[in-house]
Amino acid sequence: MSTPMTPPKPHLWLVGAGPGDPDLLTLKGAKVLAQAQLVLYDSLVHRDILDLAHPNATLICVGKRAGQTSTPQVLIHDWIERGAQQGLRIVRLKGGDPMVFGRAGEELQFAEQLGLGWTYVPGISCGTSLAGLVGIPLTLRGVASSAWLGTATGQDGRLTADLLAALNTSSTLVVFMGRRRIRDIAQHLVQLGKSDTPIAVVSEGSLTQQQCVIHSAKVWLKSEVESLPDPALLVIGEVVHYQLTPTTTNLRSITPSFTHEYEVPHLPETRKSHVQRLRRV
Ligand code: SAH
Repeated sequence: MSTPMTPPKPHLWLVGAGPGDPDLLTLKGAKVLAQAQLVLYDSLVHRDILDLAHPNATLICVGKRAGQTSTPQVLIHDWIERGAQQGLRIVRLKGGDPMVFGRAGEELQFAEQLGLGWTYVPGISCGTSLAGLVGIPLTLRGVASSAWLGTATGQDGRLTADLLAALNTSSTLVVFMGRRRIRDIAQHLVQLGKSDTPIAVVSEGSLTQQQCVIHSAKVWLKSEVESLPDPALLVIGEVVHYQLTPTTTNLRSITPSFTHEYEVPHLPETRKSHVQRLRRV
């Protein structure tokens, strides 16, 4: 397996942490973290991922949770600038994929203004993974030939025009930051004559406490949404009717956590023993 880099200094890596389960971080993300000197992370990033950072790295939480005060973008820029001035390897660690509702553009533009080199390390976005993790295919032959990723609310506080247009198609809709707008979305579906359209709400996806609540639009209109845990993602469309039942397995318990050589004693064809190396990622 290739090592991704000889790390230049200073440098900024924009790393996606995946949807929540720390085992869904990419190998490249883990390698970059192991060499980091400054890690600026969002609050949705799992603690076990932070443990992969170099032991001497400075870790700073710059994130927010829904409804709480966020770290002003300017302060994040300030940290990046300070890290660059000190010649550090900086990792900006964001939930899911940083290029999907991650404000990546602003931070990368700032890095370019500073003349700071940057590298993007993709993450698994909630938008493409959470439906599957609860057994719902995003696209399905004859049912949905496209999937739309978007947010519910525009800068004017209304449902976005794009969302309203997409609700009028057979596309699957994946809606970020939409829990508080479920009833508005359901209302719109009812107006379109699509009151039986199912809406799945996946909360705390990919984590052990993951839950999924499914109702039709007309039932959501009368349902309580306040008690659904955050973070939550909506999956809207006929594909929800095709939900299957995955069995949750915890690979973490069988992952080696140390470097270890072991002998595979017999391979019948060769009668030679083979040594294999297990490495911690
Ligand atoms: N860059 C991220 C999205 C960040 S926007 C990505 O690619 O996935 C933050 C929103 O993502 C949350 O409001 C919620 O709608 C969704 N989200 C993030 N983590 C989630 C999780 N574990 N379960 C459900 N939704 C999640």
